[in-house]
Amino acid sequence: MATTLNSGFTMPIIGLGVWRMESQQVKDLILNAIKIGYRHFDCAAKYKNEEEVGEALKEAFNSGLVKREDLFITTKLWNSDHGHVVEACKDSLRKLQLDYLDLYLVHFPVPTRHTAIGKTASVLGEDGVLDIDTTISLETTWRAMEDLVSMGLVRSIGISNYGVIMVRDCLAYSKIKPAVNQIETHPYFQRDSLVKFCQKHGVCVTAHTPLGGAAANTELFGTVSCLDDQLLKGLAGKYKKTAAQIALRWGIQRKTVVIPKSSKWERLKENFQVFDFELSKEDMELIGNMDKKYRTNQPAKFWGIDIYG
Ligand code: NAP
Repeated sequence: MATTLNSGFTMPIIGLGVWRMESQQVKDLILNAIKIGYRHFDCAAKYKNEEEVGEALKEAFNSGLVKREDLFITTKLWNSDHGHVVEACKDSLRKLQLDYLDLYLVHFPVPTRHTAIGKTASVLGEDGVLDIDTTISLETTWRAMEDLVSMGLVRSIGISNYGVIMVRDCLAYSKIKPAVNQIETHPYFQRDSLVKFCQKHGVCVTAHTPLGGAAANTELFGTVSCLDDQLLKGLAGKYKKTAAQIALRWGIQRKTVVIPKSSKWERLKENFQVFDFELSKEDMELIGNMDKKYRTNQPAKFWGIDIYG
């Protein structure tokens, strides 16, 4: 249930994403998730709940539920902090009440105007377009990420939302190779070329939005959920599982790490119960044919610019 990263450390192949978890629910959800068996938590400075996650982790350690070394904790550098990597990482560590991170990711390959450490602003210019900082190269950001490893603050470093060309570039300039590229991928947005390129070069792919964002992205971005697709529903009936479990199992069988988010106790359990069945080769191919090249997480809605454009 874990994969070995190019850094030598292992990462559980299912984790719990904490974006859009309500602050007052975070502690209960994380403690329940640990009881269910989750050992991997995907956080970010931008999710504005690192302090609540930190409180939950403190309680989990103090009560003897788990030890620090049993957990894999990821958090991410926000766009406005590319010029302040070490301070931003220390700020996240302080909020999470940890002395090291298992994985620290560059959240997006787009440095933006800095306001204050940990504020995670996305300042727009007068033209309504994200104020992108064109003076900081991604290589400069990566050098600072590498420093975090030498300083012992972070075990593995990685990237997020990088396409093939950007991953290739990062591989060329890095002294420490990115261990992970965390990208949106699910049955409606399969990105086979990017997944294959990363895997061929030893970069583990973590699938964010592995359920296609389901109701949360329908609400926020007006997108269509793959969980309502008749093919996934049909396979759910065949395997006596749910469409969500089929989507997650497909993600695992294509050797991606999946980090679904749920704020519901029953779904936390449901999403973790994906190790007691296997999709046949034919059914993997059927899902493989569902691709709609359909991105459901669309930050352009807030940034006035499509950074993938
Ligand atoms: P997701 O996990 O694909 O979908 C979450 C949605 O699915 C919520 O509406 C959730 O509702 C629902 N859901 C969960 N389990 C379900 C089930 N078994 N059946 C039906 N619906 C279910 O999308 P996400 O939360 O956007 O992404 C997951 C994690 O990826 C995030 O929490 C975050 O950690 C990470 N992420 C990273 C980036 C990045 O830029 N690196 C971007 C997006 C996300 P309930 O909560 O009501 O169950």
